[in-house]
Amino acid sequence: MVDREAAIRVRGLRKVYGARAAVDGIDLDVAAGEIFALLGPNGAGKTTTVEILEGYRRRDGGEVTVLGVDPAVATGRRAAADPAARGWRRRIGIVLQGTGEFDELTVGEVVRHFARFYPDADDPAAVIDRVGLTGKVTARTHTLSGGQKRRLDVALGIVGRPDLLFLDEPTTGFDPEARREFWGLVRDLRATGTTIVLTTHYLEEAEALADRVGVIAGGRLIALDTPRQLGNRDSALATVSWRTPDGTWHRTESAAPTAVVTDLAARFDGEVPGLTVTRPTLEDVYLDMIGAR
Ligand code: ATP
Repeated sequence: MVDREAAIRVRGLRKVYGARAAVDGIDLDVAAGEIFALLGPNGAGKTTTVEILEGYRRRDGGEVTVLGVDPAVATGRRAAADPAARGWRRRIGIVLQGTGEFDELTVGEVVRHFARFYPDADDPAAVIDRVGLTGKVTARTHTLSGGQKRRLDVALGIVGRPDLLFLDEPTTGFDPEARREFWGLVRDLRATGTTIVLTTHYLEEAEALADRVGVIAGGRLIALDTPRQLGNRDSALATVSWRTPDGTWHRTESAAPTAVVTDLAARFDGEVPGLTVTRPTLEDVYLDMIGAR
């Protein structure tokens, strides 16, 4: 997908369970080619929102367009009569939380099997290589580690060369090295034009990958920005810390940390012992936003 049309357009989305709105009027646009991360505490409404976009849940109100098609129409009874709706499912890749087990089948067999569902599937061996499972191609899936099962999930999500890929908490259970490798894979996918919607509880994952972050709490979108600017983080006060020769630590908050450091450098006549200058992390602003601090 090379054009910059909106891959996803959501207006006034509502979903009610009993008397309670799980999604309570969300507006959202995701541009084609963007990596968009949805953050929010447990029960905020992320899965409900994403599953409506994927066509797995019906909405109670609002408008939704995903790759130019209403998912409710694309997965509804009249879909067969609509050419755009018919191809829709195959243009979307979905990596759900924790599947990755296919009894006695091997990694290679499972990926080749899924590839047959798509008219223009990628080469299974190349896909297995991209997710770092080449050494496991003949391994039965139940013998894989948790992280390797997630990689297999990702292989199945991308083997159909989707225009839009949903990743639901993709790196849960990964060790730090596997997580970084996975981020590289996601960036490679974006470089080939894939739009990616990611839900995650790892703030550093959102920071490393996302072009924009949406924060959902109580069924509403309470913030939407780049990771760098979320919650006015880029203009927040900086904390400058340093140590005096008697071993005492000092810290001050400032809107002009450069001036503070220049002043300290003059005072110490050079290197300032233990100097650090920090601004709020994405996690700091996020926790403030959801009222968890
Ligand atoms: P998590 O981070 O824990 O996955 P989430 O943000 O994905 O949470 P949702 O799963 O969308 O949250 O749930 C939003 C709210 O809707 C919660 O209060 C949940 O209990 C409720 N809910 C979700 N699915 C159903 C359902 N099928 N029936 C009734 N209530 C539901």
